[in-house]
Amino acid sequence: SPILLWFRRDLRLSDHPALREASHSGRPVIPVFLHDEVVEAQGACPKWRLGLGVGALADALGAKGSRLILRRGGALATLRALVAETGAGAVWWTRAYDPDALTRDKAVKAGLKEDGLDARSFEGHLMHEPFAVETKQGGFYKVYTPFRRAVAQRSVATPVSTPGRILAPDAWPRSDRLEDWELGAAMNRGAEIVGQYVNVGEQAAQGRLAAFIAHRIDGYGEARDLPAVEGTSRLSENLTYGEISVRTCWHAGVRALEEGKRGAETFLKELIWRDFAYHLVYHTPHITASNWREDWDRFPWNEDERRAEVKAWKRGRTGIPFVDAAMREMYVTGTMHNRARMIAASYLTKHLLTHWRVGLKWFENCLIDWDPASNALGWQWSAGSGPDATPYFRVFNPVTQLDRFDKERAYVTRWIAEGQRNPPKEALQYFDAIPRSWNMSPDDAYPEPVVSPQEGRQRALEVYGNRDF
Ligand code: FAD
Repeated sequence: SPILLWFRRDLRLSDHPALREASHSGRPVIPVFLHDEVVEAQGACPKWRLGLGVGALADALGAKGSRLILRRGGALATLRALVAETGAGAVWWTRAYDPDALTRDKAVKAGLKEDGLDARSFEGHLMHEPFAVETKQGGFYKVYTPFRRAVAQRSVATPVSTPGRILAPDAWPRSDRLEDWELGAAMNRGAEIVGQYVNVGEQAAQGRLAAFIAHRIDGYGEARDLPAVEGTSRLSENLTYGEISVRTCWHAGVRALEEGKRGAETFLKELIWRDFAYHLVYHTPHITASNWREDWDRFPWNEDERRAEVKAWKRGRTGIPFVDAAMREMYVTGTMHNRARMIAASYLTKHLLTHWRVGLKWFENCLIDWDPASNALGWQWSAGSGPDATPYFRVFNPVTQLDRFDKERAYVTRWIAEGQRNPPKEALQYFDAIPRSWNMSPDDAYPEPVVSPQEGRQRALEVYGNRDF
């Protein structure tokens, strides 16, 4: 009987253990993607980008004589209907670890098993399963460095081969049309603008990795902190949808290290951050929704999104150039440089004393590389409420940070049009992307800071000092 191969955040054919095993089984394989409850809940930009990834996967499967069957509805009920239609005896997928996906998957597995089906999950999303890495006491890791040391003792599995052939069933079940799902419907910014910055699909991801290893990994150690420079891999967009496996990236990094490329070790450490984020989200799922440290529940965060300063933050109008450039970069390109993420998050949570959840949700709505684990860890780390966080009293100064990391002001010039006689293309694209109701124009005067760095720092430290922990 056929195997239903349920694709989720693993939109690739290479290094895909579930697909490889299915295609080697000698049984017909029916690849499926569901517009289910987890997809439904996604933010505007990630959902739109997901649609592009699903389209690319459908093409890749088509080129192998297979097909991607699309169905909409609750995961368990939809899979049951597909089983009934196709006579499938098995449903296989790649494991996920974030709370929403896990809740869904547990119910799916239990339900399908009750029906007597072979419901099976495979590894493939991470280098190390979160439950396989333990402290000496048998617990999980809360701090990155010991986690990194622990995983350094283990090898990362070699990527499995891409199936040469995927056996088709005698008859294909009906499929929805991807266009009819309208996954981009909630994009209230020009998808055609963000579309200029995406790099979709498995081949594009492999090309991106190869280019990074060939040209940029050597200087990665220094260039990775400069937001105006394309110094990083930009693979987060592809990793989040599984268009490339992290194991593939890891082994490419190891080869570069062996060839003496200087930045390779730092790159490998960053890949371990991604695993660490999933380790934490698996063991402490509340990290995506509430303060990781409960004592932070007593911190007087302001969660009112209607405040003028929160609007200014979202719109890149805080009057703090580093923050505004960062927010605009995200709105136009769907990504934000890592240093800029740290500065924008610090300003919102510390200078503006705003609950990190407000920022987490905005990022979740705007990022093409939105990742449930890395986003949650990034926000709690920045706010000080997470495990292994920056100490609260280390408030980033967005002005001195700009002096250090954007000395020539290339980043802010690229993204902030106000005050420039001939603003660059990117700075103007922002005004084409934003809703009219934001009432912004490149001819406006650049605003005064909503909260100055000194005032914000002082206030944050006072509130922190008065905390009753
Ligand atoms: P590179 O520097 O080339 O690094 C290679 C890979 O390592 C990345 O693709 C990513 O998979 C991983 N990585 C690097 N840094 C981190 C990190 N700090 N945490 C976890 N993994 C990391 N990353 C996301 O993928 N999705 C998010 O939604 C996300 N939200 C964030 C929110 C905040 C507030 C902060 C501070 C960080 C967030 N990050 C997120 C982490 C980081 O900013 C991005 O992974 C990175 O900027 C992606 O660019 P790159 O692919 O060029 O990274």
